[in-house]
Amino acid sequence: MPSSIQFTEDIEVRERRVRRARHLRLSIDGSGRVLLTRPFWVSKKAALSFLEEKRTWLEDRWRELSTRPESNFRRGGRAEYLRDKEATRALVVDRLKYFNQFYNYKISRIAIRDQRTRWGSCSKSGGLNFNYRLLHLPPELADYVILHELCHLGELNHSYAFWALMQKVMPDYLQRRRTLRHG
Ligand SMILES: [Zn+2]
Repeated sequence: MPSSIQFTEDIEVRERRVRRARHLRLSIDGSGRVLLTRPFWVSKKAALSFLEEKRTWLEDRWRELSTRPESNFRRGGRAEYLRDKEATRALVVDRLKYFNQFYNYKISRIAIRDQRTRWGSCSKSGGLNFNYRLLHLPPELADYVILHELCHLGELNHSYAFWALMQKVMPDYLQRRRTLRHG
């Protein structure tokens, strides 16, 4: 298990290795941070099945905490999150439809998530994931992220062939990439 996994669309679980801990322990704090404490002697596999066993508990607890009015799960709270998520979904669907005219890829699934470290990602099964904050980016940079993930349906890597796919529709992709990376 990496140090962090996207457990559900909403819940990200971070892992902490502790030498002296005696048991696996799952906790959730007032900001929605979920922490799995794993003793050194417990295997990744055992930790993952423990997490599966706790799925219902975790989802219930997360929902309960996140819907409290005083909840600070996200800046702006749950209402703003849901609003941004739907607006981002509308933007993504619209732009994918536009860009995919040039490729005709089969898009199996689109998910809008609270992922803290990435703007987008593509799974091996062809699902496209986007950060719910995407709508706050300047449109030309949001387009870069959307087209980037779409092109991974053609090339699931960052090879020359991948960048050539992007360049076909976005000749200045490199410039946008630099702007996105360096703010
Ligand atoms: Zn990529």
